[in-house]
Formats: sequence, C-alpha cells, structure tokens
Amino acid sequence: MSYDYDLFVIGAGSGGVRASRVAAGYGARVGICEDYRVGGTCVIRGCVPKKLLVYGSKYAHEFEDSAAYGWTVGEPAHSWATLRDTVGKEVDRLNGVYIRLLEGSGVKIHMGRGRLMDRHTIEVAGETVMAEKILICTGGRPEMPPIPGHEFAITSNEAFHLPDPLPKRITIVGGGYIAVEFAGIFNGLGCETELVIRRDRVLRGFDEECRTFVHESLKASGIRIRTETEIQRICRTKDGKAFECQTPLGGMFETDLVMYATGRVPNTHGIGLEKAGVQLDKAGAVAVDEWSKTTVDNIWAVGDVTDRIALTPVALMEGHCFADTEFGNKPRKADHRSVPSAVFCQPEMANVGLTEEEARMTLGELRVYSSAFTPMKYTLTSRKQRTFMKLIVEAATDRVVGCHMVGDDAAELIQGLAVAVKAGATKAQFDATVGIHPTAGEEFVTMRTARPEPTAKKAAAE
Ligand code: NDP
Repeated sequence: MSYDYDLFVIGAGSGGVRASRVAAGYGARVGICEDYRVGGTCVIRGCVPKKLLVYGSKYAHEFEDSAAYGWTVGEPAHSWATLRDTVGKEVDRLNGVYIRLLEGSGVKIHMGRGRLMDRHTIEVAGETVMAEKILICTGGRPEMPPIPGHEFAITSNEAFHLPDPLPKRITIVGGGYIAVEFAGIFNGLGCETELVIRRDRVLRGFDEECRTFVHESLKASGIRIRTETEIQRICRTKDGKAFECQTPLGGMFETDLVMYATGRVPNTHGIGLEKAGVQLDKAGAVAVDEWSKTTVDNIWAVGDVTDRIALTPVALMEGHCFADTEFGNKPRKADHRSVPSAVFCQPEMANVGLTEEEARMTLGELRVYSSAFTPMKYTLTSRKQRTFMKLIVEAATDRVVGCHMVGDDAAELIQGLAVAVKAGATKAQFDATVGIHPTAGEEFVTMRTARPEPTAKKAAAE
C-alpha cells in the first residue's frame, strides 16, 4: 500500500509540532493539519500570552513598591488596548516561528480540520490524504456548566481579546490554575476582581498549606473570594449594561463580566475517532497505553486529548518519545513521575513531587520542613508579600520527595530543584549544598529543623 505520508499529525499544538519535527528529522514524510492557528493552546491562547499578561499586571504592584526605594512614579495609568495588542503581535510572531519551524523541518502543513475516515485516511479541507501512522494531538477546550445565561460568560479563549477598556468588575468562576492566574491579571490591571469557588479554598489538589497560603495572599492582594458558592443563573441587568448572578438560597450579586475557568475537556468530537475505531477512556479522553498508542495499532495520541498531565512540557515529552520510538529506533516511554508545575498567580506557586497529604498516604514516616518569611525586597515596602517554602522528606531514605514554594520566582526556583528531586537527592545533599546569599532560594538548603510529626492519635483525628 502506498501512503502520502509516513506520519500524519492532527493538531499543531505543542505535542503535535514537537512530534512532527522530530519524526521529520529522522527522515519520515510528515504532514500536519490545524483548524485554528499553528502553535496550539499554549502559544496562541494559553501559557505564553497568559504569562505576558501576568508580567503586564505586576507593574501595578511594582509601582507601589518602588516608593519605598525612593521612586516617584506619579499616578499610573494603564492601557488595556496597548497590552492586548502587543501581546497579540507577539502571538502572531510566534505563530510565524512555529510555521517556519515546521516547514524548515520538511513538514507539510494542511490548514483545516482533520477528520479520520478510516484508520489510514484523513480528510482535511476537502482533500484526502493517507498515512501509515497517525498521531492525534487535538488538545482540549474550556468547559462551562450549562447554567441558564452561561452564553453571557466568557472563557480564557475570549479573555485575551476583551474590548478596551476592561470592565470595572470581573467575576471569575473556578478555583483552579486558570481562575487564580486571571484573577491576578485582572486585579493588577485595576479591575475589581472576585473569584467564585465551590470549595473553602482555591487550588484543590495542591499541598494544603500552599493552598491556604495562596488563598490568603490572593485576598490580601485585593481579590474578593466568594467561597462555597456557585452561580445558578446569569441574567442581564435591566439597563443591559451589567449582569446579575444568582446564587443558592436567593443570593444575588452584580458584575460587569463573568469568566468561567471550570476546567477543560479533551477535543475528541468531530475528528472521526469512531470511524477509525479509536476508543475513549472513562474520562472521555483518547485511551492510550504507556507508549501513547490508542486502541488502534497505527494510531497514537499525545497531550491534553489524553487523560494524563495537562501541561505543555508533558505534551512535548510525550510527542518526542513517540517520534523517537516510532521513527528514530530509540524506544522511549514518557515518564510522568516528578513533573514540576507552576501556577502563575500572584504570588506564584510552584512544586515538584508529592504534596504532604500524598506523601502521608503513600510513604511511611516523614520529616517536613517549612519556612514562611518576608523576602528581602518587601522588608522596605509597605506591601508585605510573604514567601512560603516546604520540603517533604521520606524519613527512611532521607530522600526529598516534595518541594513546594509560594512566592516571587517560585517557578524559576522549583525548575532547578526539580532536577534534584528527579535525581533522588537526599535532604543531607540539600544540606551540603551552599546557598547563594542573599536570596530566598537559599532557604531551601538551610532549613534544618523538621516540624514535630503528628502523633498517631492526632494524625488519625486529622
Ligand atoms: P482546573 O481543573 O485547574 O480547575 C477547575 C476549577 O473549576 C476547580 O476549582 C473546580 O472546582 C472548578 N469547577 C469545576 N466545575 C465547576 C462547576 N460546575 N462550578 C463551579 N466550579 C467548578 O481547570 P482550569 O480550567 O483552571 O485549567 C485546566 C488545565 O489547564 C489545568 O488542569 C492545567 O493542567 C492546565 N493549565 C496549566 C497552567 C500552568 O501550568 N500554569 C495554567 C493554566 C492551565 P473543584 O476543585 O471543586 O473541582
């Protein structure tokens, strides 16, 4: 049988672009299709523009802090149109870079939605192509609960393109990554920002102490958090200029914009998975084995369309491992252990390894070290943003199994420490490491006293 391609990739996001470039580098004939913009969620409407908005929003706090260092800045004014458009231009530039990277590697780009017709045939924009192997990298999309009036709300997709000026009041529903990151952005850009969460604190699933620290820091930064509540209906106000949000027990509040950040779902519809026999798992994601192979043996899937860890670097790793294995004669499985991650809320949170709660459930005795302090920069300023750090050590092996931080540059610090945690470093090796002074990071190698461990009786009660 003669195929047009050795590999055809559906979706040109992080995982798809990486896999196609690496496969083409091994000499494979590769085609890729994309129905929105080459670069995918991360580059076009996710990590990259989000982080630029975070940088933009932080100036508000920096101007405030600068007074203690002798600066007179005057009354700061912000232009959302300028920030939005400069970020948009950078996204356009990166989109061009990604297209050139693909073409430079010899990958043929087909613009249009790819649909499987059978296990070797894909239809894109009216054209039919045949490929020996197929990789599905269609990512995910935001999901909103179908409450009455949800059509008035936006998601992160629209948040990057809001008209100027920004609304005076913004309500964000959800307490996950996207919600807390955008809360920090809008708060910094001068909007009255509130979060509506159905739990008692933000960021379920992260280390409990870190969650509490972030929750309190968000409130201290001026973000209002409505806890243990949900919006049941959104209606326009009588004058049509704002929205009324109805909450349980007859509660109601008004806002100018509602944004939902209540999770993302895999993009599995309308791409012909059923025609090729590709099965989904219980979470509705494409089911894959440890080699990222689907239930069809010439079709693989990587990234957020599968139910593993929904992070760009993980999709890159999965895509790279697939290409090495299938086209480079270097069989390699993606390793999902000790994946570091960061939440770019303000202050930032980052971690690698186990939370204290996970470690207590899966390991024996622990030693837990933590430190909360005012970093040097804020000793002079009126804004006293504190930093929190935590190391979790398995007592039997002395191995550092979890490393957590909330504070400035947490992501930059944890990235370095992730190498140590991945390599199985012990607390003795952390202690033997000389600090860099004066930094916040040196605290990670100078925490000497473990906190008292809960007694068995107390732990059971907790
Ligand atoms: P998350 O899964 O992180 O958070 C979803 C939030 O929405 C949770 O607080 C959840 O509450 C809440 N929620 C879910 N359903 C409802 C509902 N019906 N009503 C009210 N609240 C609800 O999703 P995100 O959308 O924030 O992010 C999606 C993924 O994108 C993340 O998992 C992450 O992998 C990735 N991402 C990574 C980033 C990074 O690396 N910095 C940045 C942004 C996204 P509850 O806890 O009660 O379930």
